[in-house]
Amino acid sequence: MERVLEELKILGILRRKEVEEALKKIPRAEFLPEEVKQYAHLDTPLPIGYDQTTSAIHMVCMLCEETELKKGEKVLEIGAGSGYMASIYHEITGEEVLTIEIVPELAKFAKKNLRKLNLDSMIHVINADATFSLPFRTKFDVIIVTACSRDIPKEYVEMLDENGRLIIPVGAYQFSQDLILIKKTKEKIEKNKISEVAFVPLRGIGLVYKKS
Ligand code: SAH
Repeated sequence: MERVLEELKILGILRRKEVEEALKKIPRAEFLPEEVKQYAHLDTPLPIGYDQTTSAIHMVCMLCEETELKKGEKVLEIGAGSGYMASIYHEITGEEVLTIEIVPELAKFAKKNLRKLNLDSMIHVINADATFSLPFRTKFDVIIVTACSRDIPKEYVEMLDENGRLIIPVGAYQFSQDLILIKKTKEKIEKNKISEVAFVPLRGIGLVYKKS
């Protein structure tokens, strides 16, 4: 992990101490299925079962840096997967994190991983389809979507607090997606392309698309 982090610093992807500390502290191997634990230190996406992957280390880093995630902020993640990335957000913010997962078995897997590390009282995994209905009406400082959407759901933008940020991979194809950062201020909503990415697709019945 140390070597990967040094490289990410040189590339300018890893910029802040608190992101580095979080990546050093949370053991990625503890969030991986037995057969891929040995690859935890590699900067590559890794399979977590049910055709899903946990993001590469540089991607976890990029999501935290580009959203400028910091202490005291409230985060919502769409796509809990293994629970690893939610643990990183928690480590940076020191706050409770909400994360939604559509696959019941993965929601269970994430909960089990979090319980092992005593993080389950701070990180809440909700088994639900985040394209259909979200089980709360609260606002968030940062929303991180870890599966690719065909569009930017306006419901997610509406759930941002003032000065909130939404980061979301957008595109119709698996290997041609744009990582989009939305910043909401009192006056306007700013939209910027950060990078080209390849995330697994967001599934679900997609009510958010029909409404927007
Ligand atoms: N953040 C994860 C990796 C995410 S992979 C980690 O830390 O390991 C993307 C995840 O999004 C998958 O687990 C997939 O099942 C989930 N997902 C896909 N569509 C979803 C939806 N509509 N609602 C909630 N989760 C969804």
